[in-house]
Amino acid sequence: MGTEFYDVKSFVKRWKAEIKKEVDDGIASGHKKPSLTIVQIGDNPASNKYVDNKIKDCKEVGIFVDLYRIPEGSYIDQGGLNNLVYNCETDGIIIQLPVPEGLKPIDALWYTDPKKDVDGFMPGSGYIPATTLGIIKFLDSVGLGDGSGKNALVIGRSLIVGKPTARQLLDRNWTVEIAHSRTEDLWKHFAGKHLIVSAVGRHGIVDLRQVPAGCTVVDVGINFVDGKMVGDCAHADEAVNAKVTPVPGGVGLLTRAALLENVVKAWKAQWEPEKEW
Ligand code: NAP
Repeated sequence: MGTEFYDVKSFVKRWKAEIKKEVDDGIASGHKKPSLTIVQIGDNPASNKYVDNKIKDCKEVGIFVDLYRIPEGSYIDQGGLNNLVYNCETDGIIIQLPVPEGLKPIDALWYTDPKKDVDGFMPGSGYIPATTLGIIKFLDSVGLGDGSGKNALVIGRSLIVGKPTARQLLDRNWTVEIAHSRTEDLWKHFAGKHLIVSAVGRHGIVDLRQVPAGCTVVDVGINFVDGKMVGDCAHADEAVNAKVTPVPGGVGLLTRAALLENVVKAWKAQWEPEKEW
């Protein structure tokens, strides 16, 4: 048997339909539309595409978007960014990364209510960062929500993906190992794992032929080889019985849906403040 690719697209479609229903129900019971402010500074082509996708997703589920697209070369200093964030009347706010050198998005986010930090970057924001939330929701959907008695390997330890994902898995009873650039003989750590999450950004870092049979691999990586988008995993054709999230059509879609979920959570926090945050 070769590699099986998960149908992440269908799951995300169902998930977005649930989010849309929550929005419709909230509006029907008299609440104003949920809103998201996106701050993008500069003309990074990848950021342009990510922001356009976020706007499209928000429209799809009924979230109002306020976009501040500040073009490359326009002058904005840290004080200006802080002010912009401070003055936003919105349910959620995100500052699209990367920003021009010298600006510190995290410093700006201190100027808003942590309940608006829907990227979950601030300490104590109450949100699970979108990529991690997407992965957790996906694992729930395939019966891997609880890791009792199971072993996971997270490759990568960044603040926005590796660390929060490892933390959330641990909270869901997975026995978690974390690998990083100083880990030697990475493939040896695949043994005995029921789940591998690869968040590195290097195609081939996970050779699927070395993954234990039946292991689920969540491929977070985004890489371009010969102009084609690929993940961290390689040799899917020759692998035996691994189950993998595809790239494209995998974690990217999950991350996009998870942002919508966080915005709706921020919106509902206004009339359900008593809920555990
Ligand atoms: P990052 O901040 O660059 O972190 C990469 C991690 O990989 C680091 O912890 C690094 O270890 C580790 N690493 C590097 N070489 C390694 C090696 N040879 N063996 C084991 N670990 C190694 O990147 P990130 O922001 O976490 O993103 C990771 C990848 O996911 C990127 O390709 C990014 O584009 C993609 N991504 C995708 C989505 C999506 O929605 N699909 C969302 C976010 C990120 P050290 O800490 O030791 O340097």
